[in-house]
Amino acid sequence: MPCDWKDRLESLGMPILGATEGKTYRLGIMGGTFDPIHYGHLVAAEQAYSDLGLNVVVFMPAGRPAFKLDKKVASGEDRFAMTLLATADNPHFLASRFEIDREGVTYTADTLRRLRELYPENVEFYFITGADAIAEIVAWRDADDIARVAHLVAATRPGYNLDRAMDAIAASGIDFDVTYLSVPALAISSSYLRERVHNGQSLRYLTPDPVTGYLHKHRLYGASARHYGQTGDVFA
Ligand code: ATP
Ligand code: MG
Repeated sequence: MPCDWKDRLESLGMPILGATEGKTYRLGIMGGTFDPIHYGHLVAAEQAYSDLGLNVVVFMPAGRPAFKLDKKVASGEDRFAMTLLATADNPHFLASRFEIDREGVTYTADTLRRLRELYPENVEFYFITGADAIAEIVAWRDADDIARVAHLVAATRPGYNLDRAMDAIAASGIDFDVTYLSVPALAISSSYLRERVHNGQSLRYLTPDPVTGYLHKHRLYGASARHYGQTGDVFA
């Protein structure tokens, strides 16, 4: 490993793990669109951190998610800002620009391969997803590479059957290493939050308040309610 690997990670805003030879490190990676981030994401990441003994969890908003190309998504900057706000008070959570700073469509396999090149071998990757995403992962581009490079953590999610995920993985014929994690049921989604914003309904206790403040200030998701201090406001 060239000695500038730590500088490279630092310049990419990634945590520096792996410096002590012979010691194993566990890097959690929480991928998602985070449009916007909510407590479902946060609780899954926190429990993966604590139950699997991870060193840190990096939240990585997708640049242009390959599976959402047909949908309107808030800008990478806005989704990153909200992710930063939501993770700021947790010392073992980090928000990363790794994917949003890349050109073009984002593929998880590319991201994981690039991370594998950046980190020493004593750093293990734990890619955290919900039960719905894990069932789809087998259809993702280069799924066998994902299996080679990372362990998977599948968090339970209301409305999504873990059996379906297990069947899909078994049917793939790919040797994924999956840990199934039972997290407290939060039947919330970013779609649900967007709908509530659009209708002028409260987001309190669904996402941290700074996220709500940000999305109103920046008029995301067609907010119908009027809030003071929005972008473009003229103070006379
Ligand atoms: P959308 O409704 O726009 O699809 P979402 O709530 O599913 O948004 P994503 O950004 O698509 O959020 O999800 C990122 C990751 O977080 C996925 O792996 C997803 O399965 C997981 N996840 C999202 N919400 C929950 C939840 N309530 N409980 C457990 N996992 C969740
Ligand atoms: Mg989703």
